[in-house]
Amino acid sequence: MTLTAKQTRAWLLNFSNKIHDNKQYLSDLDQAIGDGDHGSNMSRGVTAVEAAITDESLEKASDVMKKAAMAMVSKVGGASGPLYGSAFLEMAKVIDNEAIARVIAAGLDGIKKRGKAEVEDKTMVDMWAPVVDALQDGRLSVEAIEEAKAQTKPLKAKKGRASYLNERSIGHLDPGAVSSSYLFIALLEEVEV
Ligand code: ADP
Ligand code: MG
Ligand code: MG
Repeated sequence: MTLTAKQTRAWLLNFSNKIHDNKQYLSDLDQAIGDGDHGSNMSRGVTAVEAAITDESLEKASDVMKKAAMAMVSKVGGASGPLYGSAFLEMAKVIDNEAIARVIAAGLDGIKKRGKAEVEDKTMVDMWAPVVDALQDGRLSVEAIEEAKAQTKPLKAKKGRASYLNERSIGHLDPGAVSSSYLFIALLEEVEV
């Protein structure tokens, strides 16, 4: 089953709501191991996404996803903008033709290509990679997402600002993994996966 434009819009608007609701929390997480702006970066980005995707003339899921990608890239100053932008852009390339597991896998490839992070570098890759695995096995759940989130806590950051802290990055959740968790909880709420 592939996603329609309507489903994709509902998914991204749900994600956007979760980002707004957790804006302060995301910035607090980033305050601990970064520069404290992840919530405001993401909130600015998804506000632009909302405006870009409400255009009713967008007929295909790929049209919606492409608009979302451009909004994230152009409105988010931090590292997360180009990373989400790359993910959404790679997803747009396959979303009209592939099942959701393949779509998220394409997004993960986009993030890895852009940011050069691997699993266990304590980045959003540590949310996207286990979600791809779970989707492939047909067992994505809120519990699986929460577990992936928790597993970023003991890791030492090897990419992004948090990596400047070395050992001191240990014991904190990765902000980008947490914002990505909302994308996948929104997916579960809007789409039968
Ligand atoms: P900045 O670090 O520029 O202030 P944000 O605070 O918005 O940007 O985003 C930080 C998040 O971006 C991190 O928590 C991490 O998940 C993600 N991130 C940073 N660098 C990379 C990278 N090279 N690959 C994947 N994700 C990364
Ligand atoms: Mg930051
Ligand atoms: Mg910043």
